[in-house]
Amino acid sequence: MSEKPPSLPPGAATVEAKLGTLEWKKSPQTHITLRDATEKAPCVELCKDRPCTTVCPAKVYEWHAPEKRILVAYENCIECGACRMLCPFDNIACDWHGGGMGVKYKYG
Ligand code: SF4
Ligand code: SF4
Repeated sequence: MSEKPPSLPPGAATVEAKLGTLEWKKSPQTHITLRDATEKAPCVELCKDRPCTTVCPAKVYEWHAPEKRILVAYENCIECGACRMLCPFDNIACDWHGGGMGVKYKYG
């Protein structure tokens, strides 16, 4: 039996709703690189919890079991930096977009 997630206070916006208010200028190139994306990468066997797949608020990382690899939907990244701090194997490299590409914040 799965536990119900805690309910939000009245009027509180969900993460999904907040993400819907952001704008992106999609870059043709990824700014996120897995340092090791081979079959020997820590993602395959060593990294049991794969925190990148749960910590990212934009759901950029997804474990693809049939191919035994992490898929990276870099276009959705909101550049918070959490994934590279929490990867226990330092396997995520972020090279932030230049030239006005990527996410656009109202005051930044
Ligand atoms: S947290 Fe790092 S090592 Fe673990 S699955 Fe994600 S990229 Fe791979
Ligand atoms: S920087 Fe933040 S939004 Fe971007 S992939 Fe990492 S955790 Fe997700």
